[in-house]
Amino acid sequence: ANGPQKRYSITLLPGDGIGPEVISVAKDVLKLTGSLEGIEFNFQEMPMGGSALDLVGVPLPDETLAAAKNSDAVLLGAIGGYKWDNNAKHLKPETGLLQIREGLKVFANLRPATVLPQLVEASTLKREVAEGVDVMVVRELTGGIYFGKPRGFRTDENGEEVGFNTEVYAAYEIDRIARVAFETARKRQGRLCSVDKANVLEASMLWRRRVTAIAEEYPDVELSHMYVDNAAMQLVRNPKQFDTIVTNNIFGDILSDEASMITGSIGMLPSASLGSSVLTKSRGPGLFEPIHGSAPDIAGQDKANPLATILSAAMLLKYGLEEEDAARRIENAVLDTLNKGLRTGDIYSTGTKLVGCKEMGEAVLRSVDSQV
Ligand code: ATP
Ligand code: MG
Repeated sequence: ANGPQKRYSITLLPGDGIGPEVISVAKDVLKLTGSLEGIEFNFQEMPMGGSALDLVGVPLPDETLAAAKNSDAVLLGAIGGYKWDNNAKHLKPETGLLQIREGLKVFANLRPATVLPQLVEASTLKREVAEGVDVMVVRELTGGIYFGKPRGFRTDENGEEVGFNTEVYAAYEIDRIARVAFETARKRQGRLCSVDKANVLEASMLWRRRVTAIAEEYPDVELSHMYVDNAAMQLVRNPKQFDTIVTNNIFGDILSDEASMITGSIGMLPSASLGSSVLTKSRGPGLFEPIHGSAPDIAGQDKANPLATILSAAMLLKYGLEEEDAARRIENAVLDTLNKGLRTGDIYSTGTKLVGCKEMGEAVLRSVDSQV
């Protein structure tokens, strides 16, 4: 092959707990994959979370956000841990996570729930229901009832204390999340289910109207609509009916957790948070991270499952850089490694081979190398 033709700068945010262990493995996987696919990565590691608090006194240093903004994509490990749980209110490691999402303006959160054939036993569902499940939940992340105003507490005319929140969506917010979802569905099976509560809520009525209008830009994607109560039921009754789901902030919060439990393996699940760059075809920076936390109970013991972070790196390639061949190489290497029977503790079952984080990483590297 000729030398590398493409170059991307990647900001690595290892964070806390098992974060540095899984990021180190994912970095090696990206590097090797790049060298085989004609891609050169320029990695920059920056402090964030509890480790940044210890180092410079804030969970998201300005230099870290600036580096992230200037890169093509950001890969994050995990943040937090009981060491910092009694910190002052504004100095929690997790604050850094909200700040970086806001700083990168990532309004679309993508969470796949894939039941791999090798791990079907881990699912909370019966084998015949779980086998072959591959759902992508696209959640709106920066609007809706979590941010809408007015909100607060007051005393009503009877002297009763009242708490209130407001579900607000502007047309432009719905349009942009809808476009990300249609683009996502297009890269998958081409079926998009929009989940709302349009029989009751005005914000949902507008949601359904706008999603339906945007669908005209994507004639190759098949759109359906479902009420959220029905969707919650259908996800556990027959999850295979879904390809891509798009929904608002609060419904997506709940449905993405429900969908992830169908797979039963927290150490396996990646995520992506995307902004407008995916729509304008300009490069990054999306934010890619495993859905699991910093797991302080197993940190520093070489026990962490690095596959969620490795699969997050594959999402970075696919959704952040549109390097789909390189993404597929990593996904296939993960499947190949599982086929060889290697398991970290969180996905171990009798008859498989228990390995640590590093050994799992080395096995994935060998598989990346042997993919054609
Ligand atoms: P968060 O930081 O999001 O609040 P949490 O504290 O609820 O997360 P995690 O940190 O994800 O939860 O850990 C939950 C459990 O799962 C822990 O017992 C942890 O050891 C285990 N776990 C999480 N991620 C992994 C992983 N990658 N490999 C192995 N075990 C994991
Ligand atoms: Mg935690």
